[in-house]
Amino acid sequence: MARVAVVGAGPGGLAAAARLAAQGHAVTVLEQSQQVGGKLGLLTVEGHAFDTGPSLVTLPQVYRDLFAATGGPLEESLDLVRLDPAVAYRFADGTRLTFPGSPAAVPAALDAALGAGAGAQWAALMSRAEHMWRISEGPFLRTPLAGAATLARLARRPADVATIAPWTSLRGLGERYLRDPRLRMLLDRYATYSGSDPRKAPGVLATVAHAEQAYGSWYVRGGLHRLALAVAERAAERGAVLRTGCAVRRVVVTGGRGAGVELADGEVVPADVVVSDADAAALYADLLPPDLSAAPRRALGRATPSLSGFVLLLGLRGRTPDLAHHTVLFPADYDAEFDAVFGTGRHRGAPQPVADPTVYVSAPDDPALRPDDDSESWFVLVNAPRHEPGRGVDWDEPGLAERYADSVLQVMADRGLDVRDRVRVRVVRTPADLERDTGSVGGSIYGTSSNGARAAFLRPANASPVPGLFLVGGSAHPGGGLPLVTLSAEIVARLVGPA
Ligand SMILES: Cc1cc2nc3c(=O)[nH]c(=O)nc-3n(C[C@H](O)[C@H](O)[C@H](O)COP(=O)(O)OP(=O)(O)OC[C@H]3O[C@@H](n4cnc5c(N)ncnc54)[C@H](O)[C@@H]3O)c2cc1C
Repeated sequence: MARVAVVGAGPGGLAAAARLAAQGHAVTVLEQSQQVGGKLGLLTVEGHAFDTGPSLVTLPQVYRDLFAATGGPLEESLDLVRLDPAVAYRFADGTRLTFPGSPAAVPAALDAALGAGAGAQWAALMSRAEHMWRISEGPFLRTPLAGAATLARLARRPADVATIAPWTSLRGLGERYLRDPRLRMLLDRYATYSGSDPRKAPGVLATVAHAEQAYGSWYVRGGLHRLALAVAERAAERGAVLRTGCAVRRVVVTGGRGAGVELADGEVVPADVVVSDADAAALYADLLPPDLSAAPRRALGRATPSLSGFVLLLGLRGRTPDLAHHTVLFPADYDAEFDAVFGTGRHRGAPQPVADPTVYVSAPDDPALRPDDDSESWFVLVNAPRHEPGRGVDWDEPGLAERYADSVLQVMADRGLDVRDRVRVRVVRTPADLERDTGSVGGSIYGTSSNGARAAFLRPANASPVPGLFLVGGSAHPGGGLPLVTLSAEIVARLVGPA
């Protein structure tokens, strides 16, 4: 049995804690904030409850595996609901597309909304994406990153390399299969699931669209934060100790091995194994001595950080007729959004809040989230540049957040969702808030982005250069988003091994 110290109680840290405790280790989780869950947070204001981060669960099998491996079926702890429709899209030309939650209904829905042939184009792309998924899921998503060995494993079959087409961007793949620009926009949006630019992210991200369509879009009744609570409870049941309000200020390295952590108040928690769920950029910049972190810092320096998000939590009076659980309001010019967020093209070197952004609204019809049946609690998200005072956007600049919130509400009104006279609660959360609350450097949601063919290989590995120190979570391999973060915990638990 090893003593394991887990830094951070985000979804990755909690899943690792549950698995390692179930494997017989003595696990202590140290979380800086007073709440567990990390970005999978919850905020309640005047009876309106809001998930502050994730609003969409994909690949439920990953959580089923986690719960099964740690003591009992997921259904004993959580009520997962498959959404149908999955999402309602509104395009700038006025077209509305309600994307069904069951795969068999998708082609007909696309033909009806976008014209004959759209369904067949999408189906052909999804068939390619399914093939990509089968090739990449095991060797990449469920396996530790091992540099050249990983590449060699993937390259063993030239036909597989041709299917993955690592040199093709997601945009390029869309242009090959989809003639309708609205369908291409829909595909492009999947790049943002990893905080990336579809013009630079690899085509293999089409697998995200496939996985969502094939395995469904899901909601956790009561709010997604319950997922964090349930995993925390599972970890505690297996014997893990969860300590909140404990910021780790350094990983203790003795004789070249991870030997524990030191807290902000000076307390040292000794351990045989340290698992870090902190943002990898923060771990390597602040928690380890520079001579032990030079190589991963160099790799991080070559990668583009993922985009951040600007969030509006709206408690509304009254109910909106015919509103889907998830709604996406697209702009006319999607490229302008990516240029503003990443500081490219017309915004070269100067990222800015997006003037005419895509707006994502999550409005769960869930009595647990509203004070009464004549109100709604909305989570509104737009892609945003990171918080980078001095170099990019300073989201703490006085007045900016509220001004930008007003402009997002105006954009929503212009696109047919005007709720301005119904607002009872309005909470604004900027990339700077995300950085303060979760320690994500610059408020990047997913660590490094997938921009560039080599991006996946620049992502920090789960085994650090320091023996006994492992990385879990969205800024490490295999990537961000709840399912991949949960898979990273599975990889780390395997690397540490049983007690
Ligand atoms: C607005 C938003 C929307 C999102 N939407 C979705 C979605 O719909 N679906 C989806 O799958 N994913 C979504 N995500 C992404 C998802 O939330 C993340 O991928 C996931 O939470 C990452 O988990 P993690 O464990 O790596 O890190 P985090 O959730 O960031 O947790 C890290 C934890 O470590 C703690 N910590 C950091 N440093 C220290 C330290 N030094 N000492 C002690 N504790 C420390 C932090 O306080 C935090 O609790 C969204 C994220 C955001 C912000």
